Parts: sequence; structure tokens; C-alpha cells
Amino acid sequence: MPLHIETPLLESAAMSTPAQSVWLKMDALQPPGSFKIRGIGFACEEYARRGARRFVSSSGGNAGIAAAYAGRRLSIPVVVVVPETTSARAMELIRREQAEVIVHGASFQEANALAQSMLLSTDAFIHPFDDPLLWQGHASMIDEVARAGLTPDAVLLSVGGGGLLCGVVAGLRRNGMAGVPVIAVETVGADSLAQSVAAGERIELPRISSLATSLGARKVAEQAFEWTRQHPVHSVVVPDSAAVAACMRFIDDHRVVVEPACGASLAVAYDRAALGACRNVLVVVCGGVTATVGQLQAWATERR
Ligand SMILES: *Cc1c(COP(=O)(O)O)cnc(C)c1O
Repeated sequence: MPLHIETPLLESAAMSTPAQSVWLKMDALQPPGSFKIRGIGFACEEYARRGARRFVSSSGGNAGIAAAYAGRRLSIPVVVVVPETTSARAMELIRREQAEVIVHGASFQEANALAQSMLLSTDAFIHPFDDPLLWQGHASMIDEVARAGLTPDAVLLSVGGGGLLCGVVAGLRRNGMAGVPVIAVETVGADSLAQSVAAGERIELPRISSLATSLGARKVAEQAFEWTRQHPVHSVVVPDSAAVAACMRFIDDHRVVVEPACGASLAVAYDRAALGACRNVLVVVCGGVTATVGQLQAWATERR
């Protein structure tokens, strides 16, 4: 049995119109709270088969939580090195999965450097987005959509480092949907893919200035940028305020809490302008557990 679950595919009454059905792939309902367990669970199982005795991660977000969950399920110890900026809640969620948390450095770069320096030959490093095994695992989401009999006219998803993008494109291709365009959404200040597309080369942001921290990769995976040349990918950037407002609206409409990283895609679905005349739109509700309702409310009031 895989470590992820098959998630519901719902037609959103709130987002659909008589001319357009908006379908929600509810990966917010994965046990560790985001789609990440699809890829990370798949990769961890493969590394375990290859003899890994420990998993090492440097993500203080949903990737670290998914790695901790996978390790517990596979009875393999996990260590997650996180920077000092990591929220108490995120650390608590990682520890709740029985992983060891090491707090080190002012930023992700320093925490990641320590994690790399700790690696033994029997360890597997679990990257948050840049690993072909992860993409294969993420692709299972599109296998489920295909099995349900839906061929969307467009797929709407959020982009951080682009692992989800690579997985969805892989999934579309292996299910005979290579022509289905992807609408790739980022927030202002975490728009490393949009800026790379505009520049015609993969750029590195000097810093991340969005509260959608799960989209905070300064540079996207090379394969994610490559897909913008080889697959129809439309890049869209929304402000943090729109992402947060969409999270609040989604709570009322669908009774599920997600992070602004996911709210970015929901904002585009609610706004509709970018969806054009598509008959069926698939929205990847990628989830995320690091924002509480209280935190979302505080952001919503601050940013009004
Ligand atoms: C990781 C994550 C993303 C971005 O995924 P990438 O593979 O880094 O592009 C989006 N939303 C949530 C909730 C995430 O945890």
C-alpha cells in the first residue's frame, strides 16, 4: 500500500458556472496535510528498498512533515534540520511524527548545509522538490483523475520549486493528456518561475518576500523551467492578499483549511479571468498545514 491516500475529486459548486466545471483534487486531505506525501512517500519507499537506514530533510514545512510521516510509517528514523525562523507549530508537527528536529542557522541555506554535511552513506536525503522520484510519486494524482474519467481542459496548480509542476506534467503525459495546458501560479515575492520565463533563463531570486512560505524556492528545479519550453505552461502571479482571501473564502465554501501557497491557485480559480473558456478545469488543492485559521484571519485583517 502506498503512503498517500486516493483523494476526492469534487466539482466545486462555488467555483463552477453553467458553462464551466471547476474540479478540485483534494490533496489537502492527505494524512500529513499536503500533496507532498505522494512524491516523498514514493521516494522514501524506493530509498528504503535500496537500503537507506535514515531519512534526512532540511524542510521546516510540508516536505519535512511528509518525510517525518513517511519515516514513521516505514519504521525508519528521520532527522529534519530547520532554520531558526521555523514556526513552533511546524516543529511540533514534525516531532509529532516522531522525527528528530535540529534547529540550525538563520536561513534555509544554513540549515540545508548542515543537513548535507551530516549525510552518511546509509542515509537518503529527501529533497523538497528536485528529485525525479518525487515527480513520479506526485504524478499518481493525475492517474487518479484519469481513472475517474475526467480529461480536464486545463490544470491549475501552485509552484514553489516546481516539483508539483513536474509531477503533474509527468502524470498528464503518462495518461495521454500531453496537450493539456497547466496554469502555474505563484505569489508576488516568490515568483521564481514567472521571472525565469520572463528572462528566458532560470533566475535566482535574491530573497523571498511572500508570506506563502511553501512557495519560497529562490530557484526552481531545472526540469520545471524546461517544461515551460516543452509543455503548454501559463505562468500567473497573484498578490499575497488575494491568496489569503481565497483561503478564507475556501473555508466557507468547502470547509477545509489550506495555506496561502494553495490559496494562490484558489485565487485564480475564484477570479476566473485566467481560466478562459475551458469546459473543465482541474484545480490541485495542494493543502499545507503550517497556517492556522487564526493566522489566516490575522493576515487577512493586516492586508485589507
Ligand atoms: C511544497 C508546496 C507547494 C509547492 O510545491 P513545489 O513542488 O515546491 O512547487 C505548494 N503548496 C504547498 C502547500 C506545498 O507544501
